[in-house]
Order: sequence, then structure tokens, then C-alpha cells
Amino acid sequence: MEIDTLLNNTKEKVNLDNYWLPFTPNRQFKENPDLISNASGHYYYLEGGRKILDAISGLWCVNAGHCRTPIVDAIKKQVTELDYATAFNMSHKSVFLTANKIAELMPENLNKIFFTNSGSEAVDSSLKIAAAYFQAIGEKSKHRFIGRERGYHGVGFGGISVGGIPSNRKVFSQCLIPGVDHIRHTHIPEKNLFSKSQPHHGAELADDLERIIQLHDASNIAALIIEPIAGSTGVLIPPIGYLERVRKICDEHKILLIFDEVITGFGRTGSAFASQSFNVTPDMIVFAKGVTNGTIPMGGVAVRQDIYDSMMHGPKWLIELFHGYTYSGHPIASAAANATIDLYKSEKLFDKAKDLSPYFEKKVHSLSNSKYVVDIRNYGLMCGIELDKIKEKPGVRAYDCFKKCLEAGVLVRNAGDVIALTPPLITDEKNIDLIVDTVHDALNSI
Ligand code: PLP
Repeated sequence: MEIDTLLNNTKEKVNLDNYWLPFTPNRQFKENPDLISNASGHYYYLEGGRKILDAISGLWCVNAGHCRTPIVDAIKKQVTELDYATAFNMSHKSVFLTANKIAELMPENLNKIFFTNSGSEAVDSSLKIAAAYFQAIGEKSKHRFIGRERGYHGVGFGGISVGGIPSNRKVFSQCLIPGVDHIRHTHIPEKNLFSKSQPHHGAELADDLERIIQLHDASNIAALIIEPIAGSTGVLIPPIGYLERVRKICDEHKILLIFDEVITGFGRTGSAFASQSFNVTPDMIVFAKGVTNGTIPMGGVAVRQDIYDSMMHGPKWLIELFHGYTYSGHPIASAAANATIDLYKSEKLFDKAKDLSPYFEKKVHSLSNSKYVVDIRNYGLMCGIELDKIKEKPGVRAYDCFKKCLEAGVLVRNAGDVIALTPPLITDEKNIDLIVDTVHDALNSI
């Protein structure tokens, strides 16, 4: 299929055949492509000019809204001054400032920041740091990892191995990294349907970790990685007391606890990180997405001071961690991150998200009697609306709802048979009403 486009004021034909879209049914998409041409604030504009209210912050990343001037200006300035800085044995000032700003937002002591270009790379980096740490302190048998069912940790081999989404693993089952187990997920609909904020039942699911520790012995386990709120598998909120119990078990067995905060980071839960909202501090936090407001790829891992310190041994001329990326701490990403964090602060967007979350909760739960809705889960400015799935066609009902909402001018996210809503932190009551009412009408029309 070919479409006309205007590139540098010249009319060109664009062929849709060559681009292989990620996580998208390519053939279906290319029959009727939805192409975004530009964006501003709360909105996307499609080719042809139709205005779409973005109810998912791009892909859970554009937390301050689209094309924000301070971020755009910082990127423009940086690209003209320093396009790329050699990343190994050299660096540049801006990335040190980014590390300062991120460390300041992190829970105390998670103050060493390793940069990557995506959440997937950040997840794999955190696993490698965990493994390298135990080597460094002489506990050489501690190399196994534990993930959780229904976890999403990106698409690297490390990430899909600790991840718990069957469709992301099935085809690659022979190539997953060895030495990985999974604890049970925390979704127990028989007890927690339509919970508001944290569900009351299920703290004891943390004890599943003990089962795996007994199986392998703690002396063989390096780290547990979990999302404080599982996002991609339908917004699963941790039961009250669950994360605290996980933390305690990890401490008792000297297992590092890694929180993957790629979507919960940078204000989504009403604090800088979900770790602060839930008052549970892990040993590492994986971040990405909101760090640059989605403008330029960047991810990273915030690491506990003493983990870093334990690797700073040996001759000074020797590399301490044989790991890194050409674009770790890229100057343009750093400039974008610095401007983004300043904007989050100056507009008090994390507090704003917190203040708005009771209204968001009330409004999304008004869908509890809408057609096909079987559960609703929410925390901060994120929610999952679970639909009754069509048995032979999993995911189709949520996809149809997504398409209907798009036709009506609102972008929502379909994940399995869940509709996820994660509006930018600049949203307001009027937009929340519009988003939720559009979902209600869409459900009535499919
Ligand atoms: N971890 C979590 C919790 C995510 O939600 C995502 C992406 O959605 C990732 C990791 C992977 O991030 P990326 O797509 O930037 O590789």
C-alpha cells in the first residue's frame, strides 16, 4: 500500500511494506493504518487532521503531555552544541546532572545511576549488576533470578526470561536464560474484584518466594525482579502488605529486590516512584519512558550505594563492570531528561497526579456496570478495565473497544482483554470524564 506524504515540502510516495511494526498485527494495521502526524499537550493529530485525546500518555511515557516547549528547546539546543559524546573513557557534563536529578528523586541510597536506551536494556542491566555484585563480594553461587507470573520486563532475553507473559516467551522457549523461576502473580479475582487502590487480600502470596528459596537455597539466588504494579498484563495492584512481605523475605535471605518502575516511575502513582507510594525500598529501580517524557530514548538503573561500592575494587585502571552501550547517557537524551525532570518539578506534576487520583478512581469505577466489564483496578493515574473475553478470540473485545474509542477521538490501550487508561499527569476532571464516557459508549457499541 502507498500513501502520499509531504517531506521537506516535497510530495513523496510512502510505501508501507518495508516497516515491520513492533507488537502490532502488521497485515491488519497496513490495511487501514492509523498514522499520527503531530502532537501537542493532551492531543495527537492524525494524518488528515483528526484530533485524538491521548488517554495513555503515548505508551505510558509522555507524562507531562506532548511537545512541551522546555523539553523541545533543550533538545534543540543540545543537538546543535554536542550531538554525541564518546561514552567510554569520556563523558559530558549533562549526563552527570541527569544522574544528580534522578538520584534526588529516588529513595535514599539508590544514588548510583547506570544509563541505557530503553526499559528492556535497563532490565537486563539490572540483572547483570545483581550477578556481578555477588561475584564481587565473593558469593559466587548466587546467580539465579526470580521473576513473577504476569510480569513484563521488556523484550531482551533476560527480560522475557524473568517476565511472565506466555505469548512473549512461547516462541523463544529454547533460548531463555537458564536459572530463572517465577513466583505467583497477585491477581485473585475471586477475592479482590473491583478493588479501589490496593486490594485487601493476597499479602500471603509473597510467601511463594519462600517456596522457590527452599527449592534452590538462597545461596544460589541473586535477585527477585517485579513490577510494583504490573502494567502490561492489565494493571495488577499489589495487595496491602504484599510488597512489605516480599522485602522482608528478600532481606532474610540476602536476595536483591529489583523494582521495574518503567511505567510506574516519574509520577504515575502520585510519587516520583511507586517505591515511595508503597513505602517499600528495593535495592535497585529500573526506569525508562517518563525520564525524558518519551521524547528521546533513555532508560537506566538506580543502584544502592553499597552495591556500587562493592565493585569499586581492584586496580584503578581496570573496568569495574564490563557492560554499557554506545548511547549510554547520550547528550540529547540527557538534555531531554534534565528539562523533563525540571518540568515535572516546576509544575508539581507528581502532586497533581496524587490530588487527581481520587477523582480518577471514582470516575473509572463508574464503569463497573458498563457492558462487558468484569473488573476494574486502579492506583494513582492508572487503571485497568477488564472485559469479559470472547472465549475463542482472546483480546478481540478490548481491541474492538480500542478501535471504537479511536473513532470517537480518544486513544486507549488494549492489553489482552483489559483496557488500560494512563492519562498524562497534566490531565484534569473534564478530560477524565471524556475518556471514561467514551469507553462506556464504545463498550455499548461493540
Ligand atoms: N519494563 C516494564 C515494566 C515495561 O512496562 C516496559 C515497557 O512497556 C519495559 C520494561 C520495556 O521497556 P522498553 O519498551 O523501553 O524496552
